[in-house]
Amino acid sequence: MQTASTLDVLRTSVAKLRADGETIGLVPTMGALHEGHLTLVRRAREECDHVVASVFVNPTQFGPNEDLDAYPRQLEEDAAMLESEGCALLWAPSGEEMYPGGAESFFTSISVSGVSEGLCGASRPGHFDGVATVVCKLFNQVQPDMAFFGEKDFQQLAVIRTMARDLDLVHPNARQIIGVPTVREADGLAMSSRNRYLSEEHRLAAATLPRAMQEAIARIEDGQEVAPTLAALEDALLGAGFSGVDYATLADARSLAPLDVKSTAAARLLVAARIGNTRLIDNMSVG
Ligand code: AMP
Repeated sequence: MQTASTLDVLRTSVAKLRADGETIGLVPTMGALHEGHLTLVRRAREECDHVVASVFVNPTQFGPNEDLDAYPRQLEEDAAMLESEGCALLWAPSGEEMYPGGAESFFTSISVSGVSEGLCGASRPGHFDGVATVVCKLFNQVQPDMAFFGEKDFQQLAVIRTMARDLDLVHPNARQIIGVPTVREADGLAMSSRNRYLSEEHRLAAATLPRAMQEAIARIEDGQEVAPTLAALEDALLGAGFSGVDYATLADARSLAPLDVKSTAAARLLVAARIGNTRLIDNMSVG
């Protein structure tokens, strides 16, 4: 596996991989890789001739009081994991390479209205603009045939799909943005680079999140009212030691518009909740 840390090297390396018309799958990450990320890499290997993975902790998607400085960084371990999964190229730019002159000298921002404002966007203003902008840059830098994202970040996937369609970053009829189902720990907790922040006690309590979500889904599928079911889900989390629930929402799986009742359209239960200093998100399909 080759590692590129400058755009020049990236472009030359990508051109070589593509020389015989071979296809490239992109897996964007912020590093601190786990089995969830590696599942994306395996899926990309199945679908494409070569996999390019990026590791970049993108400052523009972190709010002023968020965990940018504390975010785990372990490029050597990440590179070893990617290499053992058969990744062809690691794109690991510095902040200066990505935003020359710093984020203050960067004047373009992509904002995907409609899907960005609610849910995580409500408590993390500007977060999805930062995500959309950096993913657009990654698409332009690597020009992949396909790109792979986790359903773990369901709203992020919706933002990227919408941006890619609106800006003609992908062919509208092609399967180019692939959503990969969430990979979970044995007790159901969705894998996340942030799980390592959890104390032992909080790690145990965190498994209440997927369990309580499954219970809520069973009730909604059973025809019980949505609002009291979501209220009971919040109570279960607070009772288990979560310090707050940013949202627990039943939403249309496409538009992410909140639903008061389970309609015939595909629905998704999405939750963000805080335990200790860590904010966990999860989502599951309903019906
Ligand atoms: P991150 O490094 O957290 O920005 O994640 C990089 C990519 O991995 C995103 O597309 C995530 O949705 C995806 N991802 C993170 N955790 C998981 C997981 N547990 N299962 C599947 N995909 C995941």
